[in-house]
Amino acid sequence: MVKIVSILSSALFATLANAATVYTGDILAGHKVITDLDPSDFPSNSVTKLWLRMPKTITGQPRHVPVIIAKGNSPGNSLMLNSGLHGDELNGIRVVQRVFKDIDTSKLKGTVVGVSGANVDGMENKIREYTNKYDSGILIDLNRQFPGNITNRSAAQKYAATLWASIYNKNYTAGVDFHTDTTGDALPNYVYADLTIPYVYRMTELTGANVIKIDLGSGTLGALENIWDRFGTPAITYELGSANVWQKDQIQRGYDYVFRQLADLEMYPPTTDTTKIATYEAQRKVMYYGTEEKYGASPTGGFTEYYAKLLDKVVVNQTLATLFNVFGDKVMDFKSEIDGVVDAIGLSPLTQPGTYIFSVIHNSTDPACANGC
Ligand SMILES: [Zn+2]
Repeated sequence: MVKIVSILSSALFATLANAATVYTGDILAGHKVITDLDPSDFPSNSVTKLWLRMPKTITGQPRHVPVIIAKGNSPGNSLMLNSGLHGDELNGIRVVQRVFKDIDTSKLKGTVVGVSGANVDGMENKIREYTNKYDSGILIDLNRQFPGNITNRSAAQKYAATLWASIYNKNYTAGVDFHTDTTGDALPNYVYADLTIPYVYRMTELTGANVIKIDLGSGTLGALENIWDRFGTPAITYELGSANVWQKDQIQRGYDYVFRQLADLEMYPPTTDTTKIATYEAQRKVMYYGTEEKYGASPTGGFTEYYAKLLDKVVVNQTLATLFNVFGDKVMDFKSEIDGVVDAIGLSPLTQPGTYIFSVIHNSTDPACANGC
Protein backbone atom coordinates (compact mmCIF):
# COMPACT_ATOMS: atom_id res chain seq x y z
CA MET A 1 0.00 0.00 0.00
CA VAL A 2 2.80 2.39 0.92
CA LYS A 3 4.49 1.69 -2.37
CA ILE A 4 1.30 2.48 -4.35
CA VAL A 5 0.89 5.82 -2.57
CA SER A 6 4.49 6.65 -3.30
CA ILE A 7 4.08 5.87 -7.02
CA LEU A 8 0.93 7.97 -7.19
CA SER A 9 2.54 10.97 -5.55
CA SER A 10 5.60 10.82 -7.79
CA ALA A 11 3.32 10.48 -10.83
CA LEU A 12 1.41 13.57 -9.69
CA PHE A 13 4.65 15.48 -9.24
CA ALA A 14 5.78 14.46 -12.74
CA THR A 15 2.46 15.61 -14.21
CA LEU A 16 2.75 19.01 -12.54
CA ALA A 17 6.39 19.42 -13.47
CA ASN A 18 5.79 18.55 -17.13
CA ALA A 19 2.39 20.26 -17.47
CA ALA A 20 0.20 18.30 -19.86
CA THR A 21 2.66 16.71 -22.27
CA VAL A 22 2.84 13.06 -21.28
CA TYR A 23 6.23 11.39 -21.65
CA THR A 24 6.67 7.61 -21.61
CA GLY A 25 10.23 7.91 -20.33
CA ASP A 26 11.59 6.27 -23.48
CA ILE A 27 14.16 7.85 -25.80
CA LEU A 28 14.19 6.81 -29.47
CA ALA A 29 17.04 7.92 -31.74
CA GLY A 30 17.80 10.68 -29.25
CA HIS A 31 14.25 12.04 -28.97
CA LYS A 32 11.68 11.62 -26.20
CA VAL A 33 8.54 9.56 -26.72
CA ILE A 34 5.17 11.05 -25.78
CA THR A 35 1.59 9.85 -25.62
CA ASP A 36 0.04 13.33 -25.48
CA LEU A 37 1.18 16.80 -26.50
CA ASP A 38 0.53 20.14 -24.83
CA PRO A 39 1.83 22.61 -27.43
CA SER A 40 2.28 25.31 -24.76
CA ASP A 41 4.49 23.05 -22.70
CA PHE A 42 7.94 23.87 -24.14
CA PRO A 43 10.65 26.40 -23.32
CA SER A 44 10.65 29.76 -25.11
CA ASN A 45 12.86 30.10 -28.16
CA SER A 46 13.24 26.35 -28.77
CA VAL A 47 12.69 23.62 -31.36
CA THR A 48 11.82 20.19 -29.92
CA LYS A 49 11.63 16.90 -31.82
CA LEU A 50 9.50 14.14 -30.31
CA TRP A 51 7.91 10.82 -31.18
CA LEU A 52 4.22 10.19 -30.64
CA ARG A 53 3.64 6.59 -29.57
CA MET A 54 1.00 5.01 -31.80
CA PRO A 55 -1.13 1.87 -31.36
CA LYS A 56 0.65 -1.44 -31.69
CA THR A 57 1.30 -3.13 -35.02
CA ILE A 58 0.86 -6.76 -36.04
CA THR A 59 4.06 -7.67 -34.15
CA GLY A 60 2.83 -6.09 -30.93
CA GLN A 61 5.31 -3.22 -31.21
CA PRO A 62 4.19 0.40 -31.40
CA ARG A 63 4.89 2.74 -34.28
CA HIS A 64 6.03 6.31 -33.66
CA VAL A 65 5.03 9.46 -35.52
CA PRO A 66 7.53 12.36 -35.66
CA VAL A 67 6.35 15.63 -34.11
CA ILE A 68 8.27 18.93 -34.11
CA ILE A 69 7.41 21.93 -31.92
CA ALA A 70 8.82 25.41 -32.49
CA LYS A 71 8.16 27.67 -29.53
CA GLY A 72 8.62 31.39 -30.03
CA ASN A 73 10.22 34.03 -27.87
CA SER A 74 6.87 35.43 -26.79
CA PRO A 75 3.23 34.26 -26.64
CA GLY A 76 1.07 34.32 -29.73
CA ASN A 77 -1.07 32.26 -32.05
CA SER A 78 -0.50 28.63 -32.99
CA LEU A 79 -0.25 26.90 -36.36
CA MET A 80 -0.35 23.15 -37.03
CA LEU A 81 1.31 21.75 -40.16
CA ASN A 82 0.45 18.15 -40.99
CA SER A 83 1.83 15.93 -43.76
CA GLY A 84 1.85 12.35 -45.00
CA LEU A 85 -1.63 11.17 -43.96
CA HIS A 86 -1.53 9.44 -47.33
CA GLY A 87 1.64 7.38 -47.42
CA ASP A 88 2.50 8.06 -51.08
CA GLU A 89 2.11 11.87 -50.80
CA LEU A 90 5.54 13.14 -49.86
CA ASN A 91 5.99 16.79 -50.90
CA GLY A 92 4.39 18.11 -47.69
CA ILE A 93 6.83 16.13 -45.56
CA ARG A 94 9.69 18.14 -47.08
CA VAL A 95 7.79 21.39 -46.49
CA VAL A 96 7.48 20.59 -42.77
CA GLN A 97 11.13 19.51 -42.52
CA ARG A 98 12.38 22.70 -44.23
CA VAL A 99 10.13 25.05 -42.23
CA PHE A 100 11.39 23.71 -38.90
CA LYS A 101 15.00 23.66 -40.08
CA ASP A 102 14.85 27.32 -41.12
CA ILE A 103 12.48 28.95 -38.64
CA ASP A 104 14.18 31.46 -36.33
CA THR A 105 12.42 31.00 -33.00
CA SER A 106 13.87 34.25 -31.68
CA LYS A 107 11.59 36.00 -34.21
CA LEU A 108 8.60 33.70 -33.61
CA LYS A 109 5.57 34.59 -31.48
CA GLY A 110 3.49 31.62 -30.40
CA THR A 111 3.92 27.99 -31.39
CA VAL A 112 4.20 25.96 -34.59
CA VAL A 113 3.59 22.22 -34.43
CA GLY A 114 4.51 19.95 -37.35
CA VAL A 115 4.06 16.29 -38.21
CA SER A 116 6.54 15.18 -40.87
CA GLY A 117 4.83 11.99 -42.04
CA ALA A 118 1.67 10.89 -40.21
CA ASN A 119 0.84 7.59 -41.95
CA VAL A 120 3.93 5.55 -41.12
CA ASP A 121 2.16 2.34 -42.19
CA GLY A 122 1.27 3.76 -45.62
CA MET A 123 4.81 5.06 -46.15
CA GLU A 124 6.29 1.68 -45.27
CA ASN A 125 4.06 0.14 -47.94
CA LYS A 126 4.54 3.11 -50.35
CA ILE A 127 0.77 3.42 -50.67
CA ARG A 128 -1.94 5.96 -49.88
CA GLU A 129 -3.82 3.95 -47.29
CA TYR A 130 -3.34 2.48 -43.84
CA THR A 131 -3.62 -1.32 -44.00
CA ASN A 132 -5.77 -3.21 -41.51
CA LYS A 133 -3.90 -6.47 -41.94
CA TYR A 134 -6.67 -8.84 -40.86
CA ASP A 135 -9.21 -10.25 -43.35
CA SER A 136 -6.47 -10.49 -46.03
CA GLY A 137 -5.68 -6.79 -45.67
CA ILE A 138 -8.16 -3.92 -45.86
CA LEU A 139 -6.93 -0.61 -47.26
CA ILE A 140 -8.28 2.28 -45.18
CA ASP A 141 -8.11 5.96 -46.16
CA LEU A 142 -6.89 7.55 -42.91
CA ASN A 143 -8.10 10.94 -44.10
CA ARG A 144 -11.70 9.75 -43.85
CA GLN A 145 -11.39 8.43 -40.27
CA PHE A 146 -11.19 11.59 -38.14
CA PRO A 147 -11.78 12.19 -35.31
CA GLY A 148 -11.42 8.41 -35.01
CA ASN A 149 -12.49 6.17 -32.14
CA ILE A 150 -9.92 4.42 -29.97
CA THR A 151 -12.46 1.74 -28.95
CA ASN A 152 -13.45 0.95 -32.56
CA ARG A 153 -12.29 -2.49 -33.71
CA SER A 154 -10.49 -1.05 -36.74
CA ALA A 155 -6.72 -0.56 -36.37
CA ALA A 156 -6.94 2.50 -38.67
CA GLN A 157 -9.64 4.05 -36.44
CA LYS A 158 -7.39 3.61 -33.41
CA TYR A 159 -4.48 5.16 -35.33
CA ALA A 160 -6.57 8.17 -36.42
CA ALA A 161 -8.00 8.59 -32.92
CA THR A 162 -4.49 8.67 -31.45
CA LEU A 163 -3.33 11.34 -33.90
CA TRP A 164 -6.46 13.38 -33.30
CA ALA A 165 -6.48 13.25 -29.50
CA SER A 166 -2.75 13.60 -28.95
CA ILE A 167 -1.65 16.09 -31.65
CA TYR A 168 -4.37 17.54 -33.89
CA ASN A 169 -7.12 18.45 -31.42
CA LYS A 170 -5.27 21.19 -29.56
CA ASN A 171 -7.22 24.37 -30.42
CA TYR A 172 -4.69 25.65 -32.94
CA THR A 173 -5.35 29.09 -34.40
CA ALA A 174 -5.14 27.51 -37.88
CA GLY A 175 -4.33 24.11 -39.41
CA VAL A 176 -2.86 23.01 -42.73
CA ASP A 177 -2.98 19.42 -43.97
CA PHE A 178 -0.51 18.91 -46.82
CA HIS A 179 -1.28 16.32 -49.49
CA THR A 180 -0.58 15.64 -53.17
CA ASP A 181 -2.59 13.83 -55.78
CA THR A 182 -2.52 10.06 -55.41
CA THR A 183 -0.19 7.67 -57.26
CA GLY A 184 -0.79 7.79 -61.02
CA ASP A 185 -2.40 11.26 -61.11
CA ALA A 186 -1.23 14.87 -61.05
CA LEU A 187 -2.69 17.97 -59.43
CA PRO A 188 -1.42 21.52 -59.81
CA ASN A 189 -0.83 23.64 -56.71
CA TYR A 190 -4.34 23.16 -55.35
CA VAL A 191 -6.40 23.74 -52.20
CA TYR A 192 -9.63 22.30 -50.80
CA ALA A 193 -11.30 24.90 -48.60
CA ASP A 194 -14.66 25.46 -46.94
CA LEU A 195 -15.11 29.21 -47.41
CA THR A 196 -18.06 29.31 -44.97
CA ILE A 197 -15.52 28.97 -42.12
CA PRO A 198 -14.12 32.31 -40.86
CA TYR A 199 -10.49 33.00 -41.90
CA VAL A 200 -10.36 30.11 -44.41
CA TYR A 201 -10.76 32.42 -47.42
CA ARG A 202 -7.78 34.43 -46.19
CA MET A 203 -5.77 31.21 -45.84
CA THR A 204 -6.53 30.32 -49.46
CA GLU A 205 -5.40 33.76 -50.62
CA LEU A 206 -2.12 33.31 -48.80
CA THR A 207 -1.40 30.06 -50.65
CA GLY A 208 -1.33 31.71 -54.08
CA ALA A 209 -2.38 28.27 -55.37
CA ASN A 210 -3.35 27.69 -59.00
CA VAL A 211 -6.76 26.28 -58.08
CA ILE A 212 -9.00 26.59 -55.03
CA LYS A 213 -11.78 24.00 -54.88
CA ILE A 214 -14.55 25.57 -52.83
CA ASP A 215 -15.75 22.61 -50.83
CA LEU A 216 -17.97 21.99 -47.80
CA GLY A 217 -16.33 18.63 -47.23
CA SER A 218 -19.59 16.71 -47.53
CA GLY A 219 -18.00 14.29 -49.98
CA THR A 220 -15.00 13.58 -47.75
CA LEU A 221 -16.48 12.81 -44.34
CA GLY A 222 -13.80 12.35 -41.73
CA ALA A 223 -11.13 14.39 -43.53
CA LEU A 224 -8.81 16.17 -41.08
CA GLU A 225 -9.47 19.61 -42.63
CA ASN A 226 -13.22 19.32 -42.16
CA ILE A 227 -12.97 17.97 -38.62
CA TRP A 228 -10.61 20.81 -37.69
CA ASP A 229 -13.12 23.25 -39.16
CA ARG A 230 -15.91 21.64 -37.13
CA PHE A 231 -13.90 21.80 -33.90
CA GLY A 232 -13.07 25.50 -34.36
CA THR A 233 -9.65 25.45 -36.05
CA PRO A 234 -9.90 27.01 -39.53
CA ALA A 235 -8.11 24.67 -41.93
CA ILE A 236 -7.21 23.96 -45.54
CA THR A 237 -6.14 20.82 -47.39
CA TYR A 238 -3.17 21.95 -49.46
CA GLU A 239 -2.37 19.63 -52.40
CA LEU A 240 1.19 19.99 -53.73
CA GLY A 241 1.38 18.25 -57.10
CA SER A 242 2.10 14.55 -57.50
CA ALA A 243 2.77 11.48 -55.34
CA ASN A 244 6.00 9.53 -54.73
CA VAL A 245 8.36 12.40 -55.58
CA TRP A 246 9.84 15.49 -54.01
CA GLN A 247 8.95 18.24 -56.49
CA LYS A 248 11.14 21.19 -55.57
CA ASP A 249 8.84 23.80 -57.13
CA GLN A 250 5.76 22.51 -55.27
CA ILE A 251 7.70 22.20 -52.02
CA GLN A 252 8.96 25.77 -52.39
CA ARG A 253 5.39 27.03 -52.87
CA GLY A 254 4.26 25.21 -49.73
CA TYR A 255 7.24 26.51 -47.76
CA ASP A 256 6.76 30.14 -48.86
CA TYR A 257 3.05 29.87 -48.02
CA VAL A 258 3.82 28.74 -44.45
CA PHE A 259 5.90 31.87 -43.79
CA ARG A 260 3.18 34.10 -45.32
CA GLN A 261 0.67 32.29 -43.11
CA LEU A 262 2.82 32.86 -40.01
CA ALA A 263 3.16 36.55 -40.90
CA ASP A 264 -0.62 36.88 -41.38
CA LEU A 265 -1.18 35.34 -37.93
CA GLU A 266 1.31 37.92 -36.57
CA MET A 267 3.60 35.08 -35.53
CA TYR A 268 6.58 35.97 -37.73
CA PRO A 269 7.92 39.03 -39.58
CA PRO A 270 6.77 39.15 -43.21
CA THR A 271 9.43 38.44 -45.82
CA THR A 272 11.32 41.37 -47.28
CA ASP A 273 12.64 39.27 -50.19
CA THR A 274 11.45 41.21 -53.24
CA THR A 275 11.66 38.17 -55.54
CA LYS A 276 9.42 36.13 -53.21
CA ILE A 277 6.96 39.02 -52.93
CA ALA A 278 6.80 39.45 -56.71
CA THR A 279 6.39 35.71 -57.26
CA TYR A 280 3.47 35.59 -54.83
CA GLU A 281 1.79 38.65 -56.37
CA ALA A 282 2.04 37.01 -59.80
CA GLN A 283 0.56 33.76 -58.42
CA ARG A 284 -2.32 35.58 -56.73
CA LYS A 285 -3.38 37.22 -59.97
CA VAL A 286 -4.08 33.89 -61.68
CA MET A 287 -5.70 31.93 -58.83
CA TYR A 288 -8.83 30.11 -59.97
CA TYR A 289 -11.68 29.58 -57.47
CA GLY A 290 -14.17 26.94 -58.65
CA THR A 291 -17.22 25.30 -57.09
CA GLU A 292 -17.66 22.12 -59.13
CA GLU A 293 -15.50 19.49 -60.78
CA LYS A 294 -16.50 17.09 -63.54
CA TYR A 295 -14.42 13.92 -63.64
CA GLY A 296 -13.88 11.74 -66.66
CA ALA A 297 -13.74 8.07 -65.59
CA SER A 298 -13.01 5.18 -67.92
CA PRO A 299 -15.88 2.70 -68.36
CA THR A 300 -13.46 0.04 -69.59
CA GLY A 301 -9.83 -1.01 -69.50
CA GLY A 302 -6.95 -0.24 -71.83
CA PHE A 303 -4.18 2.29 -72.40
CA THR A 304 -4.76 6.05 -72.20
CA GLU A 305 -2.94 8.77 -74.13
CA TYR A 306 -3.41 12.20 -72.52
CA TYR A 307 -3.67 15.37 -74.63
CA ALA A 308 -4.68 17.89 -71.99
CA LYS A 309 -2.22 19.36 -69.51
CA LEU A 310 -2.82 20.72 -66.03
CA LEU A 311 -4.40 24.20 -66.04
CA ASP A 312 -5.38 24.03 -69.74
CA LYS A 313 -8.55 25.98 -70.41
CA VAL A 314 -10.89 23.57 -72.20
CA VAL A 315 -14.35 23.70 -73.76
CA VAL A 316 -17.28 21.33 -73.72
CA ASN A 317 -16.77 18.23 -75.90
CA GLN A 318 -13.03 18.87 -76.25
CA THR A 319 -11.11 15.58 -76.41
CA LEU A 320 -8.73 15.44 -73.41
CA ALA A 321 -7.50 11.84 -73.78
CA THR A 322 -7.99 8.71 -75.88
CA LEU A 323 -8.17 5.06 -74.81
CA PHE A 324 -6.49 2.38 -76.94
CA ASN A 325 -6.62 -1.40 -76.71
CA VAL A 326 -3.48 -3.49 -76.43
CA PHE A 327 -3.13 -3.61 -80.26
CA GLY A 328 -3.20 0.19 -80.49
CA ASP A 329 -6.73 0.40 -81.89
CA LYS A 330 -8.72 3.36 -80.63
CA VAL A 331 -11.44 2.38 -78.13
CA MET A 332 -12.87 5.79 -77.19
CA ASP A 333 -12.19 9.47 -76.63
CA PHE A 334 -12.57 11.15 -73.23
CA LYS A 335 -14.26 14.54 -73.63
CA SER A 336 -14.90 17.39 -71.24
CA GLU A 337 -18.53 17.77 -70.15
CA ILE A 338 -18.04 21.47 -69.42
CA ASP A 339 -16.07 24.61 -70.21
CA GLY A 340 -13.44 24.97 -67.48
CA VAL A 341 -9.87 24.42 -66.33
CA VAL A 342 -8.10 21.04 -66.20
CA ASP A 343 -7.29 20.61 -62.50
CA ALA A 344 -6.28 16.94 -62.43
CA ILE A 345 -4.94 14.58 -65.06
CA GLY A 346 -3.78 10.97 -65.18
CA LEU A 347 -0.11 10.11 -65.60
CA SER A 348 -0.19 6.38 -66.26
CA PRO A 349 -1.42 4.85 -69.53
CA LEU A 350 -2.63 1.73 -67.68
CA THR A 351 -6.37 2.19 -67.27
CA GLN A 352 -8.66 -0.08 -65.27
CA PRO A 353 -12.43 0.33 -65.54
CA GLY A 354 -13.32 3.13 -63.12
CA THR A 355 -9.98 4.95 -63.36
CA TYR A 356 -10.29 8.74 -63.30
CA ILE A 357 -8.72 10.14 -66.46
CA PHE A 358 -9.08 13.88 -65.73
CA SER A 359 -10.97 16.50 -63.76
CA VAL A 360 -12.20 19.86 -65.07
CA ILE A 361 -13.25 22.60 -62.64
CA HIS A 362 -15.68 25.44 -63.25
CA ASN A 363 -18.17 27.62 -61.40
CA SER A 364 -21.59 26.04 -61.42
CA THR A 365 -24.57 28.24 -62.19
CA ASP A 366 -26.65 26.21 -59.70
CA PRO A 367 -27.20 28.44 -56.62
CA ALA A 368 -27.08 25.31 -54.45
CA CYS A 369 -23.42 24.99 -55.47
CA ALA A 370 -22.35 28.44 -54.26
CA ASN A 371 -20.32 26.93 -51.40
CA GLY A 372 -19.15 24.00 -53.46
CA CYS A 373 -20.70 20.82 -54.76
ZN1 LIG B 1 -3.91 12.92 -49.88
